[in-house]
Amino acid sequence: MLRSVLQLLYPHVCEICSQELTYAEQLLCLSCSMRLPVSGFHDIRGNPVEKALWGRVPLEFASAGYVFGRESGLQSLIHLFKYGGRRDVAVHLGRLLGLQLQAHPMRENWTGIVPVPLHPSKLRKRGYNQSEALMEGMAGVNGFPPGMRGLVRTVKAGSQTKRSRIDRWENVASGYSWAGQQLENEHLLLVDDVLTTGATMEACARAILEKAPGVKLSVCCLAWTDR
Ligand SMILES: [Zn+2]
Repeated sequence: MLRSVLQLLYPHVCEICSQELTYAEQLLCLSCSMRLPVSGFHDIRGNPVEKALWGRVPLEFASAGYVFGRESGLQSLIHLFKYGGRRDVAVHLGRLLGLQLQAHPMRENWTGIVPVPLHPSKLRKRGYNQSEALMEGMAGVNGFPPGMRGLVRTVKAGSQTKRSRIDRWENVASGYSWAGQQLENEHLLLVDDVLTTGATMEACARAILEKAPGVKLSVCCLAWTDR
C-alpha cells in the first residue's frame, strides 16, 4: 500500500514517452531505452570524436556514447538535465555510458574520471555541474575508477554563437587549469555532455598536460553532434 501511495505522489513515468514504468525500469521505459541513438563509436578507429580531436592533443581513446539528434528522445533528456534541474537524469545517463564501456579493453587502464568543469557563475545558476553528475553515474558502474575533481574553470566563455572557430578556441583555451592532486602515472578519462568542435575537451586536456606532461588522457562524451 505504501508503494501505491508513493506511486501516486511520485508517479514513475518514462521521461521520454510518459508511459508508466514497471518496478524494474528506471527513468526510461525499456522501449525508449532501446531506442536511444547509441553511436557504436567505442570500437571504431577514426570515429567522429577521434577525428574532431585528431592532431590537436594526444589522446589514448576518444569516443561518445550517443549521437545527438533532434528526432531521438536523447535531446529531451539532455534538455532535462541542462535546463530542467534534473541532475538524476544525468547520473542515469552517466551510468548507461559506463555500462557501454564496462567490457571495453580501455576501461581497466583508467585511474580516474575527470568531469569538465562549469564556470562558477553557471554552476550557481544551474545548481550542479551536469558533467560531474555524468561522472558520478559512470563511477558507480563496477570496474570504474573514482571521480577526480581537480579541473577548474577560470575564465567565463562569452557568447559563442557568432564567433569563428579560432576565436572560440582562444576563448576557452585559457579557461581551465588543474588544481587537484599531484598527477604522476595516471590515465584520466575526461567526461562531458555533448561534443561538437572539441574545443572544450582540447582546452581541458591541455590544462592537465601543462601541469602533468606524463599523464595519459582519454575522452568520452555522452553525445556527439556535428550540428
Ligand atoms: Zn518510454
